Amino acid sequence: MPLDEVIAQADHVRRERVHGDMEFCGIVNAKSGMCGEDCGFCAQSSRNPSGSGVYPLIDCDRILQIARKAVDAGAQRVGIVTSGNSLTGKEIELVSSAIKRFSECGILPCASLGKISLERLDHLMSAGLRRYHHNIETSERFFPRVVTTHSYKDRIRTILTVKSAGLEICSGGIFGLGETWEDRIDMALELKELEVDSVPINFLVPIEGTPMGKRTVMSAPEALRIIAIFRIVLGKTPIKVAAGREPVLKDLQKMIFSAGANGMMVGGYLTVPGAGDTCDRALIREVALSWGR
Ligand code: SF4
Repeated sequence: MPLDEVIAQADHVRRERVHGDMEFCGIVNAKSGMCGEDCGFCAQSSRNPSGSGVYPLIDCDRILQIARKAVDAGAQRVGIVTSGNSLTGKEIELVSSAIKRFSECGILPCASLGKISLERLDHLMSAGLRRYHHNIETSERFFPRVVTTHSYKDRIRTILTVKSAGLEICSGGIFGLGETWEDRIDMALELKELEVDSVPINFLVPIEGTPMGKRTVMSAPEALRIIAIFRIVLGKTPIKVAAGREPVLKDLQKMIFSAGANGMMVGGYLTVPGAGDTCDRALIREVALSWGR
């Protein structure tokens, strides 16, 4: 189907099901690098000599300071993100204290801490956590070509644990890794079946030193088609465009909202900078105006 027709269908679904609701998220990269996993796209794997920042878990005050900056850039929710497969008990305590401080400051807290037990999720919920992030990353079929140190089933297991704890789950993936359209459609169907509460869409930003560092950046029309297909499949579920928005969409960033997205990440990403707060805020204002909000 021509791209303009797919976009028109997605826009129709967005108007009917999502109306003018918009969601903007920010992140705090609270622990960076030194990761024992081997995700082929990630600059934080210790197997990928990318030169990206390496530091242990930062303290509560610093987490709060970065979160406030994300709120200034337009974020309503801020996720505390840590590298690695999972955190230690002591690290969970620190994140739990930060979540309490978020709640006291009126910031909606999210967390992306890798694999986690029900008991730890309960603990974080009592501190005020309501949503957890854990991507499926790609399709089940393509997953072993991207990561070999854990399985797709491991990721689904964590998502189901989060849901059984009673938390909302934010789960999406990353595109431009060499996956096919069939993989992309399988991802959308999987996320629909999992009844996730929010879907982040990332586009690969190839980073030197990672196994995917030589891949080319996806074209804007391809990215817009992915967003539109996800909107058509996922109906009213919030769809947010995250990393890769700027290098992939360039001057067409506003088009992500016509293609069906109703949110985006603001204030920069884990290992790559964003467009800057001024550009993000201008884009939010422009979309709000055109949606009549
Ligand atoms: S995506 Fe997460 S688990 Fe995978 S290498 Fe990067 S930090 Fe580690």
